[in-house]
Amino acid sequence: MSLERQINIKTPAQIKIMREAGHINATVLAKVRELLQPSMTTADLNAAAEEVLKSYGCVSPFKGYGHPPFPTSITVSINDEMVHGIPHPKRKLKEGDIVSIDCGTIHGGFVADSAFTAGVGRISSEAAHLLEVTEGALYAGIEKMRSGNRTGDVSAAIQNYVESRGLQVTREYTGHGVGQKMHEGPQVPNIGIAGSGLKLRPGLTIALEPMVLVGTYETRVLPDKWTVVSADGSLTAHFEHTVAVTEGDPLILTVLQPQQATV
Ligand code: MG
Ligand code: MG
Repeated sequence: MSLERQINIKTPAQIKIMREAGHINATVLAKVRELLQPSMTTADLNAAAEEVLKSYGCVSPFKGYGHPPFPTSITVSINDEMVHGIPHPKRKLKEGDIVSIDCGTIHGGFVADSAFTAGVGRISSEAAHLLEVTEGALYAGIEKMRSGNRTGDVSAAIQNYVESRGLQVTREYTGHGVGQKMHEGPQVPNIGIAGSGLKLRPGLTIALEPMVLVGTYETRVLPDKWTVVSADGSLTAHFEHTVAVTEGDPLILTVLQPQQATV
């Protein structure tokens, strides 16, 4: 993986395709969200996601990605698992768990990438606060995705939102440009300094993805070489949207489009 990834400005026609990809991805995530119930297995969630993807004739860029190749179409990360959890037929959801689901969709040659975290049944107030802050941080970052701002403005907004609410944000894992490849430039860290970094301009499409931890921000990777957990075992959460910079307001691409006509 090269550190300097290419930055690709998208045309309005390409953004329209990414919006369709985003609609499909949102449909997958909505389906999985319905299934977050005790005794469902994480492999069940992946199977449901794959069924929706297949109904659109799409696949996820996650499957086969990296080394070792990621085996499934979504990642499912529970409680202290922050990102990249691998679905497994023996892993059952339990009441009170918080579950992060990340999915990508390839449609028309473009990728949409989005994630959410939600509780199974009743969750602790600590967990509820974590979810609220992580989702809020995503929207604080999106609000800064405006032409003329810099990537550091987005990063700083995410960091300040989280830290001013008493939580920690990841250092090692970042948001990223997304388009024909799942990972393009620019990198958009979840920490940063306002006024620094690349200047945003219309046609940039970026997946913003704050990952927030209740305890230390330090993480480690499990022996499966994928699952990232908090180093101290504390709860974590992750929200993500693919967002386009426009001449005006930021455009979130990974939402359901009511009048979507997908082919
Ligand atoms: Mg993702
Ligand atoms: Mg991503």
